[in-house]
Amino acid sequence: MSHKVEILSVGTELLLGSIANTDAQMLSQGLSALGLNVYWHTVVGDNPQRAREAVAIAKQRADIIITTGGLGPTCDDLTKNVLAEAFGKKLYRDEDSVRRLEEFAKKRGRKLTENNYQQAMLPEGCTVLVNDWGSAPGCAFEAEGVHVIMLPGPPSECRPMFQYRAVPYLQQFSEGVIASHTLKLFGIGESAMEAQLREQMNAMANPTLAPYAKEGECELRVTAKAATQEEAQALLLPTVDKLKEHFGPLVYGVDVPSLEFVLEGLLKERGRTLGTAESCTGGLMAKRLTDLSGASQVFKGGIVSYTNEVKHNVLGVPQELLDQYGAVSAPVAEAMAEGARRVLGCDIGLSSTGVAGPDKDDRGNEVGTMFIGIATYEGTYVRPLHITLRPVRERLRTITAHHAFDLARRYLTGLDYEAGMPQ
Ligand code: ATP
Repeated sequence: MSHKVEILSVGTELLLGSIANTDAQMLSQGLSALGLNVYWHTVVGDNPQRAREAVAIAKQRADIIITTGGLGPTCDDLTKNVLAEAFGKKLYRDEDSVRRLEEFAKKRGRKLTENNYQQAMLPEGCTVLVNDWGSAPGCAFEAEGVHVIMLPGPPSECRPMFQYRAVPYLQQFSEGVIASHTLKLFGIGESAMEAQLREQMNAMANPTLAPYAKEGECELRVTAKAATQEEAQALLLPTVDKLKEHFGPLVYGVDVPSLEFVLEGLLKERGRTLGTAESCTGGLMAKRLTDLSGASQVFKGGIVSYTNEVKHNVLGVPQELLDQYGAVSAPVAEAMAEGARRVLGCDIGLSSTGVAGPDKDDRGNEVGTMFIGIATYEGTYVRPLHITLRPVRERLRTITAHHAFDLARRYLTGLDYEAGMPQ
């Protein structure tokens, strides 16, 4: 039988938006890895009446309810009372938990107050989930065909309590594992990718394919369900290989966070250094590269050459080029990339120049006209772009930086600069 899990998070802070529900996210990830289906996330404040209503709904539709928060000693902490009442259970004072609470307080040089003893009040007949990471114990019980597991709210307690206490308890209901791999693609839109895969996607049941659009790039998640991790991987890997072959140079990585992450890895592997000369991206390339730890090994630096003076005086872009073609042009992008390489003393120079809007430039170039340059030992190349889909400033910059990283990735992996790209 397939189980239906509901995660019920208790806490007014969650409803007010003061904190994000990271416990529910962590639990959902962990539960799907166990092959358990999470169908609902519910959040309720520290209000007994509304908590009762939420539990009444949850017990109708789910057969595993996992609660987070509301186990502490203050009167706000109502989860145990409400759950015990909903399933007709009384609370008892668990002496082992009392001893643990006393030890916990003693270690911290504190005295237990009467309120603290409430944490040791647990539903009759429950399995106590001992909390080695904080004070409030969790608990689990089965009643009326529903399994209830209560975990503390602080993420530093909730995570290990889930991993070391709840997972062993839940293993008995596990129906296998769900595993996935994510292909990252650059140079194709989500709809084009989906159109190419539609037939295949409809025909596949296990593994399944799910496309996701990200700003200027897309992801393809392949997910398989099987009895063991090995079996799941055996289902996944041939599909991942087939997709990599199908999309070829557009796939920049599998299970990797970003283009710049892949680029940084390639630079390290090949012992090469990089520098940037940015106009329209205004330092975004340098920012994204320096967000990565260890970037100093491969990233020499960047110049934000926004005005023609800086392009000329710092990067050495010839004045004639600026006068003849304007700043937004292939010859200037080329000279900027070469300038970056020379001035920064690096192996690869990347450049960007373009019209980020909201208005055309003084030469009549449309918003979204971009030139991205790469200068290397082997020569210089410029990719011209006309981004017409939602050409807003932030998006244009992001996509332009993606293109620059893509050119460098292609150079370092020996790929043609335009192979597979839409013409
Ligand atoms: P305690 O024993 O500390 O009282 P508790 O189980 O009663 O724990 P709460 O009082 O509900 O938990 O929450 C304690 C803190 O844990 C909150 O202030 C919040 O910072 C964090 N927290 C609670 N619920 C969540 C959640 N769902 N996701 C992320 N953080 C949470």
